[in-house]
Amino acid sequence: MALRIQGFTSAQRRAIARGRRIIERRLARLPCPVPQDLCGELRAILFADRPVVDLVYGGDGGGHRTPYARSAGYRILLYRRAMASTSRDTSQLAPVLFHELIHIARGWELDAEAFENAWFTQAEGARPPTRDDWTLFKEQHYRGWWVCLDPRTRRVADYADRLVLTFPPRPR
Ligand SMILES: [Zn+2]
Repeated sequence: MALRIQGFTSAQRRAIARGRRIIERRLARLPCPVPQDLCGELRAILFADRPVVDLVYGGDGGGHRTPYARSAGYRILLYRRAMASTSRDTSQLAPVLFHELIHIARGWELDAEAFENAWFTQAEGARPPTRDDWTLFKEQHYRGWWVCLDPRTRRVADYADRLVLTFPPRPR
């Protein structure tokens, strides 16, 4: 496996392992249409020797508006805020981790939000797009690397026009 986990406690590592198993199970039985090259990238990150992705604990991020996670290149920072949501039980971490894996696989915000919310329910920890996300979608012309969004119907489809999901109403 090519996820290199650094700086987490053993409890946090267990939470990450649970999240990872959930993602692997869904990858084996896709919850929605997923373009083949995205599946390939995800499998490579999870199962192949390359690419090596560093998963690093970011602490509290030192700010009030710390995100749950962020990624750049082949590095994912997971903040305390994301880990805190795992204390209850299973793995609300899975959607956070999955979202960042989509970015590592070169997905844009629309791709990451779409597949996060298509693969996971809100009860499982998925977070529908925020106002800021919608602003970004607009700036990026409602397009992602693998999907596009009709802002009127909120329908997200891949470029073969297969329905991925319909987003909930845009927050005001
Ligand atoms: Zn994102």
